[in-house]
Amino acid sequence: MKGNLSMDTRIGKITNDINEVPPKERKFYVPVQRDMSAKEKADTQIRLYSPCACGSGKTFKFCCYRKAAA
Ligand SMILES: [Zn+2]
Repeated sequence: MKGNLSMDTRIGKITNDINEVPPKERKFYVPVQRDMSAKEKADTQIRLYSPCACGSGKTFKFCCYRKAAA
């Protein structure tokens, strides 16, 4: 069983294996030692529906989050 969960602090995405993340992206990841609490999950959702940091006026989920996921 792997214990290497990491979270992308930009989008709250959980990655099972940090080794699959490109090295230049790893600085955005933090280790996850345990399951997220309900509050932390809620915070992640809030981030998705907050105005995007790029200033487009769209919510993050429908702006740069999509680009990042594509
Ligand atoms: Zn954006």
